[in-house]
Amino acid sequence: MADDGLNIYDEIEIEDMTFDPNIQIYTYPCPCGDRFEIAIDDLRDGEEIAVCPSCSLMIRVIFDLSDLPKAETQSTSGVAVQA
Ligand SMILES: [Zn+2]
Repeated sequence: MADDGLNIYDEIEIEDMTFDPNIQIYTYPCPCGDRFEIAIDDLRDGEEIAVCPSCSLMIRVIFDLSDLPKAETQSTSGVAVQA
């Protein structure tokens, strides 16, 4: 897949992002006032582009798989955040 067409706003180290363990998503402040979001499962799948849902800007997350918290398989219910 070619990334050349993507509108990448910036490249952010994952350690500079905020991890929300409740919804298993990394976030980073977007200049529009919302936040870039990427799910940890997407990172594990090799996805590295976090998108802001409000303005469609994107950032590339700089990370190594070994940086990610270990997968927790015990509870996958109850936290559907899709509105
Ligand atoms: Zn935004």
